[in-house]
This record gives sequence, structure tokens and C-alpha cells, in this order.
Amino acid sequence: MKAKSFIDQGLLVPDDVTIGIVEERLQQSDCKKGFLLDGFPRTLSQAEALDEILSRLNTSLDHVINLNVDRGLLMARLTGRRICTVCGASYHLIFNPPKQDGICDIDGGELYQRPDDNEESVGKRLDEYDNKTAPLLAFYDNKGLLRQVNGENEINVVSSEIVSLLRG
Ligand SMILES: [Zn+2]
Repeated sequence: MKAKSFIDQGLLVPDDVTIGIVEERLQQSDCKKGFLLDGFPRTLSQAEALDEILSRLNTSLDHVINLNVDRGLLMARLTGRRICTVCGASYHLIFNPPKQDGICDIDGGELYQRPDDNEESVGKRLDEYDNKTAPLLAFYDNKGLLRQVNGENEINVVSSEIVSLLRG
């Protein structure tokens, strides 16, 4: 089964499929000057596989950036998302509310909440992060690669911190 069919079914893509995609992508010529991985690796076994890929490609990581956000704030951010049924525009009940409750500013379409943005599903995703992904912090800290960024700041502050980290 291809990665897209797992995603379409809402399943987690198995490690060997994900790792194969990453290795193939990193071999392309536009990665010669550098690359940025977002959402990978998510587990220790993926991080170990990434180390093997990078040593085969004769390259290495410069930085691992952790965006720190309090669990309660993450819950508020994720459960407050609302999407337009017509154009797919994304709103947030607290941080980016539409002018009129439940209605898209652009086209008047009805807004809905994705089924997996409810408190129970988000809680499961955050638990999975705590169990499987959080151990990567120590893994990369031991390698001297971990950089901490306060993800609770405004988006433009967070992005300029990341940019200056990458320039440094
Ligand atoms: Zn819309």
C-alpha cells in the first residue's frame, strides 16, 4: 500500500514506508544545499533510521528545533479550529474567529470542526506525542543538536527566532 492510501484512511504510515520516502527525497538534487524535515522523525526508531540514512548520504543534521507549547494551550489551539465547508479556509474560535459565528468571511460557507479535532482525539494525539516523540528531546540533546524555541509566542516571533537560529 502506498503512503497516500494510509493517509486517506486516517492510518499512521508504517515506519519503513516513511523512512523509504525520506531517503528517496533526500537524494534529490535540491537537497544538496540543505533540507528541513517537518514532522519526521516522530519516534526513536525513525530517528535511528534517519541517522543511518544521513551517514549513507554523507551528511548530518545541524539543528533539531523543539517548539515548546504548554499542553493546555495546545488543546485550546487544536480544539478551536474550524474549517469552511466551501473553500477550506481555516479559522480559530479564540485566535482567528470569523466575523460572524460559524460562517466563513470569504464566501459565507458553513464552518465545521474536523472529527479528529475534538478533545478526546486531540488528547490521544498529545499522549502519543508524550509516549513516542518526547523521548527524541533527550536523544538529540545528547548529540548537542537540540534548540528550544518558545512556541507560545506570536507566529511571526516564532518564525523569526527559527530563521535566526538557522542563520547562526
Ligand atoms: Zn469559505
